Amino acid sequence: SDDRVFNFAAGPATLPETVLRKAESELFNWRGSGMSVMEMSHRGKDFTSIIQKAESDLRSLLDIPSDYAVLFLQGGATTQFAAIPLNLCKPDDTVDYVVTGSWSDKAFKEAQKYCKPKVIWSGKSEKYTKIPAFEDLEQSPNAKYMHICANETIHGVEFKNYPNPKSLLVADMSSNFCSKPVDISKFGIIYAGAQKNVGPSGVTIVIIRKDLIGGAQEITPVMLDYKIHHENSSLYNTPPCYGIYMCGLVFEDLLAQGGLREVEKKNKKKAEILYEAINQSNGFYRCPVEPSVRSLMNVPFTLEKAELEGEFVKEAAKEKMVQLKGHRSVGGMRASIYNAMPLAGVEKLVAFMKEFQGRHA
Ligand code: PMP
Repeated sequence: SDDRVFNFAAGPATLPETVLRKAESELFNWRGSGMSVMEMSHRGKDFTSIIQKAESDLRSLLDIPSDYAVLFLQGGATTQFAAIPLNLCKPDDTVDYVVTGSWSDKAFKEAQKYCKPKVIWSGKSEKYTKIPAFEDLEQSPNAKYMHICANETIHGVEFKNYPNPKSLLVADMSSNFCSKPVDISKFGIIYAGAQKNVGPSGVTIVIIRKDLIGGAQEITPVMLDYKIHHENSSLYNTPPCYGIYMCGLVFEDLLAQGGLREVEKKNKKKAEILYEAINQSNGFYRCPVEPSVRSLMNVPFTLEKAELEGEFVKEAAKEKMVQLKGHRSVGGMRASIYNAMPLAGVEKLVAFMKEFQGRHA
């Protein structure tokens, strides 16, 4: 509506207007319960129905097989950087990390505290603009798992298909979770912070094959032990109730849109027109990422005349397109165009880019 901006932030990020309106209408008194979801007991029947519906809708959306558990946790994806090695490894176990950007690098560094991770591929020397060819990956003989970041939020590189390691595939899907269908059965664990595609910050979703639960190291804090959370249906302690409710509303919305095949089509269309605008700018705009692995979610770009970048961001903001500045570590611009960014937002950005170029080329 009129007073809302197009928010291109990387996360927390824009949410569907329908979801926000629905939450607004239910904020004060949730469905005749006489209270807000924020005020409910997490063990009462109302919240039980909310978390169960959120899980079952997510299972429908992603077609999650019954031998996988869904956990609603806290601590962000960053906490999973530690929880994964703590739950899957002994301190001397080797694990493989594919480092395609800042986030997989952070995951690797945290794992060093709890096991023996090895970087089997790094895109650092090419400024994180590539995804490796899977046949080039030299897996460690006894690795417990291979960790990837399915979409690097800062660098804008995205796996378009997935390696098939001898061990287990573990993926950080924080920034492309529910943006397209995924064959869950290819993974041991998928984890994601909610605050990009599916809700507010404060909820972390873990999808884990059930036979991987139960082997945590002795020192694992209860809050990081998947077994504790699984046995207690994510209610061992007080969960992020309101955030889970919001995620549930987003899942309903994604199902109402026709599910993730439809959502993927929309996301492809949005990304296509934005990359097209960059490609057709005669070098005025540049995207450093190798074309075949460009992210559908986070589109980093720079200006040939770098001195104009500040002006670009400022003028775009005046036209109600905000948060276009690139991450502080890479500079330039970044447009995050998650599920909830409407096509109209991307069209407006593309029109602005052309107009800006016209004035400055
Ligand atoms: N992984 C990826 C791919 C991310 O984009 C982020 C957050 N930007 C994180 C991990 C860290 O997530 P959190 O802030 O939820 O801990």
